[in-house]
Amino acid sequence: MKFISTRGGEKVTGAQAIVQGLAKNGGLFVPEKFPTVTEEEIRAMEDMSYPERAAFILGKYLADELGGDYLKEVCEKAYSSFEGNDPVPLVKVDGESGLYVLELFHGPTCAFKDMALTVLPYLLKKSCEVTGVKDEILILAATSGDTGKAALEGFRDVEGTKVAVFYPDEGVAKMQRLQMTIQDGDNVFVSAVEGNFDDCQRAVKNMFASEEFNAELAAKGVRLSSANSINFGRLAPQIAYYFSAYVDLINSRQIEMGDKIDFVVPTGNFGDILAGWYAKKMGLPVRKLVCASNKNKVLADFFKDGVYDVKREFHRTMSPSMDILVSSNLERLLFEISGRNSRLTAQRMKALAEKKEYSITEEEKAKLDEEFYGGFASEDDTIEAMYEIFDEFGYAMDTHTGVALWVYLQYKEMCWKKDKKDKTPIIVLSTANPYKFPQDVLYALSGNDVKDSFKGIKRLNLLTAMKPPKCLLDLRYRTPRFKTKVKNDLKQMTDAIMRFVDGEIVPVPVDKK
Ligand SMILES: *Cc1c(COP(=O)(O)O)cnc(C)c1O
Repeated sequence: MKFISTRGGEKVTGAQAIVQGLAKNGGLFVPEKFPTVTEEEIRAMEDMSYPERAAFILGKYLADELGGDYLKEVCEKAYSSFEGNDPVPLVKVDGESGLYVLELFHGPTCAFKDMALTVLPYLLKKSCEVTGVKDEILILAATSGDTGKAALEGFRDVEGTKVAVFYPDEGVAKMQRLQMTIQDGDNVFVSAVEGNFDDCQRAVKNMFASEEFNAELAAKGVRLSSANSINFGRLAPQIAYYFSAYVDLINSRQIEMGDKIDFVVPTGNFGDILAGWYAKKMGLPVRKLVCASNKNKVLADFFKDGVYDVKREFHRTMSPSMDILVSSNLERLLFEISGRNSRLTAQRMKALAEKKEYSITEEEKAKLDEEFYGGFASEDDTIEAMYEIFDEFGYAMDTHTGVALWVYLQYKEMCWKKDKKDKTPIIVLSTANPYKFPQDVLYALSGNDVKDSFKGIKRLNLLTAMKPPKCLLDLRYRTPRFKTKVKNDLKQMTDAIMRFVDGEIVPVPVDKK
């Protein structure tokens, strides 16, 4: 299968798209044509394990190049690192109204980024082989908190790779920072950057675009690649869980083949929800995709008015992984709703960079309305939703999922207003383990305010009787290895990377356990 750039001009293979990450003209790679999944194929997934289902969906895009058996093998390996016997459990929270939660946080770093970042290193390795790339691969990522840790863990000590992560100094939760700064491995680098996530993401994009920096790396036999959701190799494994959740509903006799369902997705960079839309394009019976934003509600406004406007204040919230104003992956959706008009997509991205805003046509807006619903939750709304669901159903969730739950409640009310008998099942995607944000979750569920994260974990455990994950408990006894902080400046950031590549930044050795 071939991939094309949303901004035109380039056509590459899947393996090239994965190795390169971003198209040369700054566009994102999208499949030349969407593969389809038939009803028979969905039925065939009923008897498959999760890794088999994931390999099947990945295969639709990549099997011709990477090999179906290889994909099966890597999905088995990747998802065996998840806790519990089902890597992606679908939990029925309220059978009456048809509310389900798809838990995507049972991976090694306790957030949904593991769904793709446990698989990506294998995809990349094979893609390098297939394309004959012999350079060392340097994974460079900007993170709003969870991607960084998942990328570090996924690529830790993977031969032929190095991984460098920049996180916004003012923008990640305490547990997230600790998870990254204690990272072990001999091929890893972590640094804080002054500013918020948008600044950080822009700076990293500029590093990718800098010819000088790339040439300097090339001279050392090093090539950049991306672990952010702009990389198609990140997006593809995320499509699988939408299919898998649907199949689980069939298997448990909640729906029949062909019934439509809704998904509610807590959204930041628009990667997770875009994967859901790709699933729909491939043939999954989806009614609506509900896009849930926090107080940084650029996307909710976009779905309401058809105007994407980032000229606004940036808010720090208790769902930091969604504190984003420029959602990179929206470009892929814009490309599609414009009728795959790459010139127009490039123009809009230029307008976004220069004028901080663009708008879509009435016709495009009407297309979006058919498939999406956008909503948002304030901090108080988020707490309210988390409390309500815990109080009524005993289900505890993290703050990002809390945002989605509030928007779910709004959306459900709207559905009921239209049709009192509407029983369409709604699946809310849960993106992080509640123990990753223990103080905020404890506060939302009990009003209890504690100063220390580990005390928060203990209290939350007493309150919910949920088992805290070992990887978070272990953090308590670790000392940070990385203390670097740089200015948000291309030169400072590229200098730091060059020193890392040259082996001049030597992190504090891993603690003796
Ligand atoms: C990354 C992340 C999100 C947002 O996902 P996008 O793909 O960026 O839209 C939501 N919740 C958590 C916990 C995350 O880590």
